[in-house]
Amino acid sequence: MSLRATLRVNPGSKFRFKNFDPGFHGHYESEQAAKAEQQHNLARISDLQRKLYGSRTRSLLIVLQGIDGAGKDGTCWHVISAMDPQGVSVHGFKQPTPEEADHDFLWRVHPHAPGRGQVSIFNRSHYEDVMVVRVHKLVPKSTWQQRFDFINEWERLLTQQNDTVVLKFFLAISKEEQLARFKERLVDPARQWKISASDYAERDLWDDYTVAYEDALNRCSTKESPWYVIPANNKWFRNLAVSKIIADTLEDMHLGLPAPTVDLAEIRRRYHAEVKAGAADNKRDKNSDKNSDKKRDKKRDTAAAKS
Ligand code: AMP
Ligand code: MG
Repeated sequence: MSLRATLRVNPGSKFRFKNFDPGFHGHYESEQAAKAEQQHNLARISDLQRKLYGSRTRSLLIVLQGIDGAGKDGTCWHVISAMDPQGVSVHGFKQPTPEEADHDFLWRVHPHAPGRGQVSIFNRSHYEDVMVVRVHKLVPKSTWQQRFDFINEWERLLTQQNDTVVLKFFLAISKEEQLARFKERLVDPARQWKISASDYAERDLWDDYTVAYEDALNRCSTKESPWYVIPANNKWFRNLAVSKIIADTLEDMHLGLPAPTVDLAEIRRRYHAEVKAGAADNKRDKNSDKNSDKKRDKKRDTAAAKS
């Protein structure tokens, strides 16, 4: 079975983290063994994203979710490294501002949905409004419960009326791996800025988050926009799996470069005329250089004969 099929939450299935191994790395023995394939995935993304940008008919929305330390920032960085910056933007969603909180929960995400030709990456997303708000009881149950349907409808709107593909990745790490990453942040001065005061308080709510994640994955994995749960304990495998699924998805979009808008035969004729004119100019310049060289030599010979 392909990686894409293995990691997809099939609509109607019941995904459970207790049956999931975040340390899974397929048939790849090591980062080194996966390196060549990973380079190939990134090259495919580069090529296909250029076609997406050039053809301006479709768009791609990539949603990244995962608990603190799961690697959302690192995944963004990695995936974007393969893309033409003109055609991609990243949007992070944090605690709502007072203005955002005064609106419906999709208000702040909708302006960042990708336009034709574009890729948008959501680092956290509208799914926070059925995850963190549920765990912290920020809105009544009746409110977040309704949101699964609103989310499915909103994603269907993008898919059906704007030719957008919505690709959703949940980066899954184990509780032990999260602690190891918190340690990295503590001991490495270059990472200390990433430490949040809430990291440990949120970690205490691991089980509540697990229930909220499972519900969102099961309720919002649709045929058109399924969730992929990515085993993310190994950063190299996480990058490999995400890149491969993005490349495969772009390939399935059958993107072609747009046809030229000009008459190529006419442009070709003009090009050759320019080349010909350039060659004639060069010849003339050379001849006139030769003539002035001759004149100079003659002058010098005459002067020498006189002296
Ligand atoms: P980070 O991504 O580490 O910068 O943290 C952003 C924080 O904002 C996380 O703790 C999120 O859970 C929180 N956050 C994002 N969206 C929402 C939301 N709609 N309501 C409440 N908290 C949110
Ligand atoms: Mg954080």
